[in-house]
Amino acid sequence: MKITDIKCAVIADSPVVRIVTDAGVDGWSQIETPKPYVQPLVLQLKPFLVGEDPTNVERLMKRIRYRGGFKPWGSAVSAIEIALWDLAGKAANVPIYKLLGGKVRDKVRTYRTFYHHEISAEHTVADYARWAAEAKALPGGYKMFKLPTSFHSAMVSDIPNYFYGAPCTGERYPYANRGLVTEEGFNHAVASVFAAKEALGPGYGLAVDAGPGYLAYDALRFAKAFEPLHLLWVEDMITGDYSPFVNADVYRDITHATTTPIHTGEQIYLRQNYKDLIEKHAVNVIGPDPCDVGGIAELKWIAEYADLHGIAIAPHGTANGVFGLASHIQLAACLPDNYIAFEYPARFEDDGFWYDIVEGFDGNPVVDGEIEVTDRPGLGVNFIPEAAKAYLRPEDADFFD
Ligand SMILES: [Mg+2]
Repeated sequence: MKITDIKCAVIADSPVVRIVTDAGVDGWSQIETPKPYVQPLVLQLKPFLVGEDPTNVERLMKRIRYRGGFKPWGSAVSAIEIALWDLAGKAANVPIYKLLGGKVRDKVRTYRTFYHHEISAEHTVADYARWAAEAKALPGGYKMFKLPTSFHSAMVSDIPNYFYGAPCTGERYPYANRGLVTEEGFNHAVASVFAAKEALGPGYGLAVDAGPGYLAYDALRFAKAFEPLHLLWVEDMITGDYSPFVNADVYRDITHATTTPIHTGEQIYLRQNYKDLIEKHAVNVIGPDPCDVGGIAELKWIAEYADLHGIAIAPHGTANGVFGLASHIQLAACLPDNYIAFEYPARFEDDGFWYDIVEGFDGNPVVDGEIEVTDRPGLGVNFIPEAAKAYLRPEDADFFD
């Protein structure tokens, strides 16, 4: 089998990738929803790939891996990696997990990030209690939730005098706010999270996404305040989404001084950039995203190395789309016992059409917070070109040709 073309279209702001082969078999993958600008970054990889055997995944990755970077710049390389594994699985007529060591679980656990805007909630303590009640009522029966708050939410601007800084609102770059939290702001955030966890009750896990934006000693104070709550983790207080660096030493100081589990890593590209976090035991939980870290095998390797060091893994994925969901299922099937749950890519379901233009899912697959692992070859999900064509932009009209 040889690669004959690399194609990329944008559907609903989400670049989708097609690796075309001379065997009449396609490899598919997808890039996060708000990244239409990545399309040319996928296409510029074409000269490194055409004419090669796609089942030699690592040989091809050695040619393109250096052309990525921290989120968002690693997503094009990651998408190619995932589409190569899709082809490798199809060529062998096995699901991808069979090529990565085999299935260690038949059902995989997923957690749901539940955003305040989904229920038009604001950031009062009462809103947080309502958030929990509505989370428990979501279809899918999720048992674990993530709560965006503090610097990872509009709490920073909605609650007066939240931190010592002029809150930026409506900024077009992410995480514009950073600084020391006021005592009033601190107490408000803590009361809000307590209200959410108490309303959830002990039958549900709660993770808190809180940054980036904290100063180090304030982050420790925040984590210590939640020690009675048995949280799943507190995420990205120092660096995180779209930070082009790690700051492992600062994380280590916090992690070693609290019993609240500390989590980071969704923006990090490649195993080498996890080295400090893992070897210094700088966090308790890592959250690489297969669509940003460099792909499926890259994440598997990082998970195994983290497990050797006593670190858990909860992969990120909120905007990864329906093909990202399929990638998470393949990975979660074969990750070691340090696996907690992956973040369900719920955002694509808001578009309302994705399950109609692919085959492999019969609607939302989550039952009691888990998904049954498919035995279909490759990712287990394929476009239905006749149905999907209607969603292509005019400039991408030849995507399925
Ligand atoms: Mg996050």
